[in-house]
Amino acid sequence: MKAVMKVDPTPGIKIMDIDKPKPGPRDVLVRVRATAYCGSDMHLYKWDAQAVKWNSPLPRVLGHEFSGDVVEVGKNVTMVKAGDLVAGETHIPCEHCYMCRTGRMHICENMKILGVHVPEGSFAEYLVIPETIAYKLPAGTPYDVGALYEPCGVAMHAVQRAQPNPGDTAVVLGCGPIGMYVQQIMKALGCDVIATDVKKFRIDHAKKVGAAREVIDTSVGNAVEKVKSAIGQRGADIVFEAAGSGETIKQSLDMVAKAGKVVLFGASPDNPVLDTTTYIVYKEIDVLGLTGRYMFSTWDRVQRLVARGLVNLKSVITHQLPLEKAEEGFQLLLKGEASKIILTP
Ligand SMILES: [Zn+2]
Ligand SMILES: [Zn+2]
Repeated sequence: MKAVMKVDPTPGIKIMDIDKPKPGPRDVLVRVRATAYCGSDMHLYKWDAQAVKWNSPLPRVLGHEFSGDVVEVGKNVTMVKAGDLVAGETHIPCEHCYMCRTGRMHICENMKILGVHVPEGSFAEYLVIPETIAYKLPAGTPYDVGALYEPCGVAMHAVQRAQPNPGDTAVVLGCGPIGMYVQQIMKALGCDVIATDVKKFRIDHAKKVGAAREVIDTSVGNAVEKVKSAIGQRGADIVFEAAGSGETIKQSLDMVAKAGKVVLFGASPDNPVLDTTTYIVYKEIDVLGLTGRYMFSTWDRVQRLVARGLVNLKSVITHQLPLEKAEEGFQLLLKGEASKIILTP
């Protein structure tokens, strides 16, 4: 089968012919039909400091956001069968640790991430996954839509962490795919949503999708003042920091109202030091973080909003490419000229 591989610890990819994987007793073999690029694929492509830190096994197949058809199951598999349409959770939990047994499998003590910590990935014609992480999609779900449950689940998780109240005001810093989904979910809840970004491509894209009442360009001028004049001088009840820079994390603390909530999507390479006295003590801000998705309540909630047309998963797709053109996708993302790119292996 054809697969997009990372072979050496240097930048770039190779498209190779490798053996089709075989499912073990508790595994599911999926014919991948659509798979999306994610930030972690970019780290592995560039083989930057983050990729080195992950200690990702080589050679490896890239990719982890996907949907496809089950073609074969191991003899002990009971939850899915051949012919089912599935997507996959990226967290591979151990199922035995304290977190797994107390409802927080997504932060398992022995967590492995598909496409990162294991050599398997979804940028290939076939993928073997443990049955535990298969998520059955409603029949008739388009493959590209199915592949985007995973990133939208992160947005759902962020909103669940924030626990918005009716009529809350919200700011979403960052109009990448996850920021765009947060805007749609918050709008669906009846919240007033303002979005910001510094890249023209993303600002234009967010305006076109139209979930935020206003999309503010914060590449020039004072971002905090601009946002406050749009949302109110008190600041926002909730700020979602989905841009990931030290600067936007600091902005989020100044944009949020007293006693408001700041939700951090994490993985900021700057990892800034916070003034806890000013913000957490005297301003009484709740600073919340999250990683991945609740398994599988975020998936079910995304499914319900998609079914009712309140979230449009397709809205973030800007390009579709055949697997052979995977390099083109990486180049588009490096240049900042794409949002979600779907590969069709
Ligand atoms: Zn992802
Ligand atoms: Zn565990």
